[in-house]
Amino acid sequence: MRTSIATVSLSGSLTEKLTAASRAGFDGVEIFENDLLASPLAPEEIRGRCADLGLSIELYQPMRDIEAVPEEEFARGLRRARHKFALMRRLGADTVLVCSSVSPQAVDDDALAAEQLARLADAAREYGIRVAYEALAWGRHVSTYDHAWRIVKAAGHPALGTCLDSFHILSRGSDPKGIEDIPGEKIFFLQLADAPLLAMDVLQWSRHYRCFPGQGGFDLAGLLRHVLRTGYDGPLSLEVFNDVFRQAEAGPTAVDARRSLTVLQETVGAARPPAPVVPTGVAFAELLTADAEPVTALLGALGFARTARHRSKPVDLWQQGEARILVNTGPAGRRDGTRLAAIGLRSPDPAGAARRAEALLAPVLPRRRAAQDAPLEAVAAPDGTELFFCATGRPGRPGWRADFADTQTGPRDAGDVTRIDHLSLTQPWHHFDEAALFHRSVLGLRAQESVDVADPYGLLRSRAVTNDDGSVRIALTVGPAPTGDTVHARHIALATGDVVAAARRFRAAGGRLLPIPANYYDDLAARQEFPDGELETYRELGILYDRDAYGEFRHCYTHTVGQVFFELVQRDGGYRGYGAPNAPVRLAAQHAARALTAG
Ligand code: MG
Ligand code: MG
Repeated sequence: MRTSIATVSLSGSLTEKLTAASRAGFDGVEIFENDLLASPLAPEEIRGRCADLGLSIELYQPMRDIEAVPEEEFARGLRRARHKFALMRRLGADTVLVCSSVSPQAVDDDALAAEQLARLADAAREYGIRVAYEALAWGRHVSTYDHAWRIVKAAGHPALGTCLDSFHILSRGSDPKGIEDIPGEKIFFLQLADAPLLAMDVLQWSRHYRCFPGQGGFDLAGLLRHVLRTGYDGPLSLEVFNDVFRQAEAGPTAVDARRSLTVLQETVGAARPPAPVVPTGVAFAELLTADAEPVTALLGALGFARTARHRSKPVDLWQQGEARILVNTGPAGRRDGTRLAAIGLRSPDPAGAARRAEALLAPVLPRRRAAQDAPLEAVAAPDGTELFFCATGRPGRPGWRADFADTQTGPRDAGDVTRIDHLSLTQPWHHFDEAALFHRSVLGLRAQESVDVADPYGLLRSRAVTNDDGSVRIALTVGPAPTGDTVHARHIALATGDVVAAARRFRAAGGRLLPIPANYYDDLAARQEFPDGELETYRELGILYDRDAYGEFRHCYTHTVGQVFFELVQRDGGYRGYGAPNAPVRLAAQHAARALTAG
């Protein structure tokens, strides 16, 4: 099926929007009238630009307040329409969108609406143009898709059909099953948009909060299945009004959009990208640093030992139990200090995982390796994190570990850490929904519910993606703070069977634990009963506590080095969360610790 995107969904000039749509692989565009009005290009030049970029112009929009109005008002509308039809000929667009009227002059008269739309279609036909009539969810008298279709049907004009818009249909809670009653050839256009489920005015909801399929709460796949059963063979077109996308760079937004459409097509069986290869564990986390000493001191205090060194690069492997951290001092001179730059994911089929990623428009990274190194497939996540797909060590195929020579310098399992529990990746604010969709669709991970947490300086959103057995857990967070704020640094959570022992050992080795205010423990004592002395131990070490329906969670935090800090976590009884209720206390404590350091 052809894919298309409305220019209103992207930021920038019309030229920038067209270029971004083309680069992301869309077949066509809807030209939004305001984008044309603001463009210095003549319609013929826009037409030529689209042709050069391999884009068809699928729709011109919108035309408003045409139908069910007094005759003299309709005559004015028709005159306006003829101007636009002439423009559309110059543009090479053959379908125009007409939204149901919101005019105070419009009357509740379906017969009049049908008669005037038929006369509009008559005029359109003279120009070789078709009219697609769409019910706005806030239309004055016509606000549902089935009502719009009844009017189109009554008009009985070959140049008049309907436009279905998933937002207008699903935001009103209409049953999309009735779409199957419309003959496919009378559906002239299909616009797709998702949206988070919000209780708010539908016009504001539509203008500001639409998002790409799979990023909100609507059942887009269900709606699309109904549409496809009618025999509809027009384009799948994204029409997304969103405050974030209006400001974000057009290129990445177009890629995000095109990826969401591929995933939707895959869900309904209309596209077959390579199947996802779900990662089976975390092979390593890689820290990039110009000054390794502070972070290696921290790793040492946590019980990690430097066990191996890369044969051709300045990269050390620090290990404890199954937790592996690479410390890469390669790209020297970075001013932003130590940061979590890459994640190695254990993959049963690295090449397949890379093919899937490529089909879903994830940038495949050039292999940073010497001739003798094992091949390592890697892609970039939307936030720039490098994701390596690491073979799970099949015989005859050396894994990433073979590139490292052992340099055991200390007891290997000195501490209480067993593995990496989860990785927390702070996202740029405009990448949050994109990041969740990326990790879900490209990596085949499951997304958990989104959680909002109050930070003392704003609101923090967090959403985790995991594989089935929880051996891969990535917490995606977005905060109000500007990039570079260490409080929103990324972190690595290390699993331990005994967080008290691990915290004590860390402190005895010279590590600094994040102090937690006494008020937190007074509140905890009110909420929860603990055996004698336990709460005092938590208070002393800065251990936080949470429980869910499945089990308990105890966790504490190290100080921050550059852009990274560590968390020690003890999960008991199948606890599924990440201690989110404690995040405001933790964030406030980090703000306070930072102020202290800065002072
Ligand atoms: Mg629409
Ligand atoms: Mg984006």
